[in-house]
Amino acid sequence: MPHRITVIPGDGTGPEITDATLAVLEATGVQFEWEFKEAGIDAVEKFGTVLPDDLLDSVRDNRVAIKGPITTPRGGGFRSVNVALRKLLDLYACVRPARYYPGVRSRYDNVDLVIVRENHEDLYAGVEFEKGDPNIGRISQITEAAGLGPIRDDAGLSLKIISEYGSRRIVRFAFEYARQYGRSKVTAVAKDNIMKYTDGLFFAVAREVATDYPDVPYEERLVDNMTMQLVQKPELYDVLVLPNLYGDILSDLCAGLVGGLGVAPGANLGDEIAVFEPVHGSAPQYAGLNKVNPMAMMFSAVMMLQHIGERGAAQRMQAALAAVIAEGKSVTYDMKPTPDDPTAVGTSQVAEAVIAKLRMMD
Ligand code: NAD
Repeated sequence: MPHRITVIPGDGTGPEITDATLAVLEATGVQFEWEFKEAGIDAVEKFGTVLPDDLLDSVRDNRVAIKGPITTPRGGGFRSVNVALRKLLDLYACVRPARYYPGVRSRYDNVDLVIVRENHEDLYAGVEFEKGDPNIGRISQITEAAGLGPIRDDAGLSLKIISEYGSRRIVRFAFEYARQYGRSKVTAVAKDNIMKYTDGLFFAVAREVATDYPDVPYEERLVDNMTMQLVQKPELYDVLVLPNLYGDILSDLCAGLVGGLGVAPGANLGDEIAVFEPVHGSAPQYAGLNKVNPMAMMFSAVMMLQHIGERGAAQRMQAALAAVIAEGKSVTYDMKPTPDDPTAVGTSQVAEAVIAKLRMMD
């Protein structure tokens, strides 16, 4: 039976890197049936919405999707499709591996980390009040009455929301992931010495969940100390589980440790549904130029192969990508010593090179 997968090519450079990735996936020999679905500004003209129900139904039915980046135009009236998709499909876990591959230009050669970031809560929940909103005055009355002092009337306000429910399921997810993929330990990261009732709750729940996984070592780090340690000795860490905002910042830090956006894969997962996508955005200035690096999406596709149980194909595709990187010949501008290196190849040539490596392994 072929795997039925929803494909969301996205916009900007999304369709090019999607084509390149699907070509490599097909060359692994695994059978797929692709269901192409549109989202974003391009979908509005056809469907009257940036996130058509038809797309959501397809992902719910297939339970697995691979997605290119989608542009969020600046200014009002257009909420991020990416954020809406994660909310509507309850994709509460964002998983971002950061692994060094020989040949990538990086200051580190010993990084193999996985960031597990909570996707719905924290300062990202969008519970915010603009400066001047009368609700801030009402909240100020409450904080004053509680002995916490008033809120200045020229302040904006964002609420940090961390629940026991949200913390429990993301930490449980991290431990399950560690078990499933044979990782060595889980480190919870927050700042409970300052945010006792939100980050403190996160740690308390994490400690409790950890007792259900005696086979997986557990530890805690304060986020400020963690950023320094990741720069000084990233080899000491394995799976990191974090609330939303810290997860956002540390996943970019970790992408930077291993060569940047061009090779940083990701996945957003819920209990039933998984959407695989590169960390980077749509890089619209390069759209249609056959220029950008498809490897971040290709490594996301490797994660997808693992998720659907095609471990052998995942291993071969990962090895083929690693071989192309190590050779350093058929790589895009961002992986060359300088961005204007004339030997840089385009998006589709990377796909051809990876496919050639796969064929050599057959
Ligand atoms: P971006 O990641 O698109 O681009 C930042 C820079 O990184 C680019 O100028 C380019 O130099 C480089 N870059 C990105 N991807 C690359 C690749 N594959 N190969 C080589 N170089 C690459 O970030 P941005 O410019 O801040 O965002 C552009 C749009 O993408 C925005 O509308 C943003 O909202 C959206 N976005 C979407 C997603 C998503 O769909 N998940 C994620 C992030 C940003």
